[in-house]
Amino acid sequence: MAVAAQVAAKGREVYILEKNETFGKETSSRNSETIHAGIYYPEGSLKAETCVAGNALLYELCQQNGIAHRKTGKLIVATKDEEVGKLEALLQRGIRNGVRGLTMLSRTEVRELEPNVEGVAAIFSPSSGIIDSHALMKFFLARAKEKGAEIAYKSKVVGIERLSDGYEVTVENGSRSFPFKTEVLINCAGLHSDRIAQLAGIDISEAGYRLFYCKGEYFSVGNSKSRLVERLIYPVPQPSTGGMGIHTVMDVEGKMRLGPNARYVNEIDYKVDESQKGFFYHSVKAFLPFIEYDDLEPEMAGIRPKLQGPGEDIRDFVIRHEQDRGLPGFINLIGIESPGLTSAPAIAERVEGIVKEIL
Ligand SMILES: Cc1cc2nc3c(=O)[nH]c(=O)nc-3n(C[C@H](O)[C@H](O)[C@H](O)COP(=O)(O)OP(=O)(O)OC[C@H]3O[C@@H](n4cnc5c(N)ncnc54)[C@H](O)[C@@H]3O)c2cc1C
Repeated sequence: MAVAAQVAAKGREVYILEKNETFGKETSSRNSETIHAGIYYPEGSLKAETCVAGNALLYELCQQNGIAHRKTGKLIVATKDEEVGKLEALLQRGIRNGVRGLTMLSRTEVRELEPNVEGVAAIFSPSSGIIDSHALMKFFLARAKEKGAEIAYKSKVVGIERLSDGYEVTVENGSRSFPFKTEVLINCAGLHSDRIAQLAGIDISEAGYRLFYCKGEYFSVGNSKSRLVERLIYPVPQPSTGGMGIHTVMDVEGKMRLGPNARYVNEIDYKVDESQKGFFYHSVKAFLPFIEYDDLEPEMAGIRPKLQGPGEDIRDFVIRHEQDRGLPGFINLIGIESPGLTSAPAIAERVEGIVKEIL
């Protein structure tokens, strides 16, 4: 919807085809709602660039349009001296990525900021924050509609045929289907974006577009514990865990939860596995000593559309005009996992730039 709003704002006729009965029923409603700063991602990657740019754009959009958010700030905490080197490397990466205001804190400074957090050192990231993701989606959709875009619900893309001057998309709407013609086709289908690329005729194995589902579960901690920290609190990430490590997540009302883990799964199923409770507890106990095992209750889950399989190196977002695959006017957005929410306005600008080159 960010892409639709941006493209429509340039005077283009835009239609959003959405298979569900309304917007935001998939990944955009099942995430941590964190405005990331851009610390973790490889230098020069689309993830780093769109996250840093998106962070600034998102705060501006929130302030100008009354979208609920809070610039909480965040600490990445080392609990052992051996982790301080990794923290230092992360700090340098964040600085190289252009994240502003990052500082290293001593044990005493950590205590001063967050008296209930245990750590020997921490990175302080002042530009990290939280956002009401549903309010953001509503805003993008309203802006898109205001600029003339239309959204069709219960409209599932099931076929794509290349024409001499664009594409004919077959759309399934309940028991009937209809053709839809367009000059430019933008694939923003989240967990299903690899299938859309396949429908357009791309060999997704060869292109490296096949998605893996990586589940992220959350546990709530009870309201009384929510008040014990003010900022987002993260551990030092362990390579190959596929996530940032179990951390605190906060909503705009200040309710805290823990998550998400990162487990590769074969199916899209949002049930939380209660047996993960011990893993959650042991993951945070060292830096959040006030959390007790019995505080934790299964809450919700989301699924990351990951381009890298288990144990593989981090992959970047794919944002690509597929002209060289014989598909002029077809733009793929694949693997838009975290920080996709933060990056949304910057991704939208990038995609609009591609559309401008095409038309
Ligand atoms: C556990 C978890 C935590 C996360 N935490 C954060 C975070 O804290 N901060 C952050 O910046 N990012 C976070 N993210 C990432 C962020 O949520 C996603 O990058 C973002 O929401 C992706 O948005 P999207 O529009 O690409 O996909 P989606 O929200 O999945 O939207 C895709 C839409 O396409 C529709 N669709 C699919 N196939 C078809 C079809 N054939 N026909 C018609 N419509 C179709 C779907 O129904 C869906 O509505 C997290 C993700 C997860 C899973």
